[in-house]
Amino acid sequence: MSTFQAPKGTYDLLPPNSATYLAVREAISAPLRNSGYGYIETPGFENVELFARGVGESTDIVTKEMYAFETKGGDRLALRPEGTASVLRAALEANLHKGGNLPVKLWYSGSYYRYERPQKGRYRHFSQVGAEAIGAEDPALDAELIILADQAYRSLGLRDFRILLNSLGDKECRPVYRAALQEFLRGLDLDDDTRRRVDINPLRVLDDKRESVRKQLTGAPALGDYLCEACKAYHEQVRELLTAAGVAFEDDANLVRGLDYYTRTTFEFVHDGLGSQSAVGGGGRYDGLSEMIGGPALPSVGWALGVDRTVLALEAEGVTLDIPAATAVYAVPLGEEARRVLFGQVTALRKAGIATDFAFGGKGLKNAMKSANRSGARLALVAGERDLAEGVVQLKNLESGEQTAVPLDAVVDEVRRTLG
Ligand code: ATP
Ligand code: MG
Repeated sequence: MSTFQAPKGTYDLLPPNSATYLAVREAISAPLRNSGYGYIETPGFENVELFARGVGESTDIVTKEMYAFETKGGDRLALRPEGTASVLRAALEANLHKGGNLPVKLWYSGSYYRYERPQKGRYRHFSQVGAEAIGAEDPALDAELIILADQAYRSLGLRDFRILLNSLGDKECRPVYRAALQEFLRGLDLDDDTRRRVDINPLRVLDDKRESVRKQLTGAPALGDYLCEACKAYHEQVRELLTAAGVAFEDDANLVRGLDYYTRTTFEFVHDGLGSQSAVGGGGRYDGLSEMIGGPALPSVGWALGVDRTVLALEAEGVTLDIPAATAVYAVPLGEEARRVLFGQVTALRKAGIATDFAFGGKGLKNAMKSANRSGARLALVAGERDLAEGVVQLKNLESGEQTAVPLDAVVDEVRRTLG
């Protein structure tokens, strides 16, 4: 191959920017780890059937965006387009839901794959951090997840995001609404594709972004008018808990997820600096999903936040994260004997937990000092033959330029003292 090019719709994370991605994953997961969520990791691919059922055969994700393939052994697999179905599958497989300790609270972080039209904020490989709380119906759990996501974004310094909130009803009230909506939609002038969607997934039509469709939707029946008393009370509790926690949200009657196993609470986090790819995260309740993939009834709620778009949101708000330099000390040997001695010092410093790097490749002093400065290190350890003859190395403060001779056996202590 004569050129090096990542596949279309993908990009590489490279230093120093990759540190921001790590910090974002860390910041999103920190509130979860602090709230009883345990880490789960599942394979990057699953049987395609899991996603067909667990994401929905009528969704864009399954019909258009999934990387599905047949293995040499004849298995039908797909690269995971999202996390919830896999996490639920894994929890059921391991019987985490048995033994009475519900909800099972899990968090994950990883790569997801969708065959989409690439554009800013929309990639074919992207990264999410997600959380699922499986097996409990409790408005406090829905509120908890929204509060934790809010906390995560705020801890990163984001301010220009909004939380959109809606209730989708349940298996009592939604079918009544669905039928009323279908009747309304069947009276509109829609293309064949959209008419098919009216049959399979009518709520999704409310989410259509095309103006030709949008303008016909005024006067459509509103889900809020159809919620049963239990759903209304549940939703009111979620709203009250969020308000009491000081988390601002906007009621958005048009926020929908079309599939029947999505119930009640649904929410999305949007950032106003991102243009059309404005959703930085989303989630909601999926009380019917477990049964849909062949498990017992397990009412659950979860979210997934997009790491790529969160990084774009940080850029849009001009937030730079306070990421400590990867290297604190940089060692520069002058000559063969110094290489051997300083390499030993480097190992000792690293063992002591001090981030240290070394001028590899026999660089001259000038080049080595350039690398030291570029590494972001605060201190350089420099030694030549004369220093070694005296049993010392030079400890140079790269900010002030100040230099002191330090006995070889005191280097770790002196470095630690200087770094503070
Ligand atoms: P959109 O409406 O933008 O297509 P979505 O509803 O498909 O988003 P979800 O499935 O809810 O998104 O995934 C949760 C989050 O994952 C999104 O809010 C977004 O931040 C991120 N995400 C989804 N698809 C992509 C993608 N192709 N590239 C980058 N991030 C993505
Ligand atoms: Mg999408």
